[in-house]
Amino acid sequence: MKTHHFTCIKCPLSCQIELIEDNGTVLEIRGCTCNQGEQYALDEFSNPLRIVTTTVRVTEGILPVVPVRSQAPLPKSLIADCVSVLNTTEVEAPVTCGQIVCSNILDTGIDVVASRDLERRH
Ligand code: SF4
Repeated sequence: MKTHHFTCIKCPLSCQIELIEDNGTVLEIRGCTCNQGEQYALDEFSNPLRIVTTTVRVTEGILPVVPVRSQAPLPKSLIADCVSVLNTTEVEAPVTCGQIVCSNILDTGIDVVASRDLERRH
C-alpha cells in the first residue's frame, strides 16, 4: 500500500488530499471537501496533465524569444519532450498573441501558441 499526497488546486481552499492505493488500485481518498477534489486526486494519480509554458526563439524580433503555452493541458509524461521540441523551434517576427508556433505538438492534437505580441526589429 502507498499513500500519495496532493494539494487540490480546484479552489482557494487548497484541501490536502491523501490517495491510498495498492498496485495501482485506488483504495481510499481522504481529505476532500467536495467531489471535485476526489476527481482531481484520481486524475493526478492516473493521468496528470499540465499546461506547457516556455519560450521559443524569434528571428528579427525586438526580443530574442517569445513566451508560449500549450492551448490545452498535456500529459505530464510528455512535457520534457515538448520542451525539447520547442527548444529547437524558431519563429520570425512579427509574432501575434495566439499565433500557432508549433502545430499538433508530438501528435497530441494540441497546438502551442504565442502568449504575447512581439514586434519586428526596425
Ligand atoms: S476538494 Fe473541493 S473544496 Fe477542497 S480545494 Fe478541492 S475543490 Fe476546493
